[in-house]
Amino acid sequence: MSGNIFSGDIIYEKIMSVRAHIAKAASVYGRKPEEVKIIAVTKNFGTREVLAAVSAGIEDIGENKAQEFENKYAVLGGICRWHMIGHLQTNKVKQVVGKVALIHSADTIKLIAEIDRQSRKLGIVTEVLVQVNASGEETKTGINPEGVYEFLLKAGNYDSIRIKGLMTMAQYTVVSEETRPVFRKMNKIFVDIGKEKIDNVSMEILSMGMSNDYETAVEEGSNMVRIGTAIFGAR
Ligand SMILES: *Cc1c(COP(=O)(O)O)cnc(C)c1O
Repeated sequence: MSGNIFSGDIIYEKIMSVRAHIAKAASVYGRKPEEVKIIAVTKNFGTREVLAAVSAGIEDIGENKAQEFENKYAVLGGICRWHMIGHLQTNKVKQVVGKVALIHSADTIKLIAEIDRQSRKLGIVTEVLVQVNASGEETKTGINPEGVYEFLLKAGNYDSIRIKGLMTMAQYTVVSEETRPVFRKMNKIFVDIGKEKIDNVSMEILSMGMSNDYETAVEEGSNMVRIGTAIFGAR
């Protein structure tokens, strides 16, 4: 937790500013502003930041670690939809299944199989996104772009899972424009696969764009952005 003086008003203003930027970028792609969902990423922040975001109209909160998610969920429960956006180990799956609305980071069949198994135990279906390593950086997890279709054919065999789309993280750069080819490539995969008929797979959500690059991502077709720093400040 940072030592910043907390102000819910600042969080409100930041969210309004992010919304305005999204509206502008969405029109470039030809989407309505409300078609782009903001996931406010509260990792390293506390429950009061979640509450401030929710009172400013945010409905979706993202966490990247299972344990941190569980701690906040224990206090706040269903006041928002929760998103698991970070790398998820198979042994942590049962901490999140049944509680999160969407897992953004499915990137191995082993993980898919475990999410399916835990979901079936609870008698529920869990919605997931497949994470793609579109920037090709070795440090990033995710399926290679060329392998996405094959992966979905396999992942679609698990009936307690619905694959709702794709997620990616672009390379970090201070020049947002450099991420454009990565986002464009992702959108092409998203649109192309959307034309195919695969069991339990539908291309509805394209989760891409973070604080430093969300406008470019939305201009290139993203309909879900994951924003931490631009709303809550530096971690
Ligand atoms: C932390 C995180 C974000 C948000 O990052 P910011 O740069 O603070 O907006 C988005 N996606 C994932 C997977 C993250 O871990």
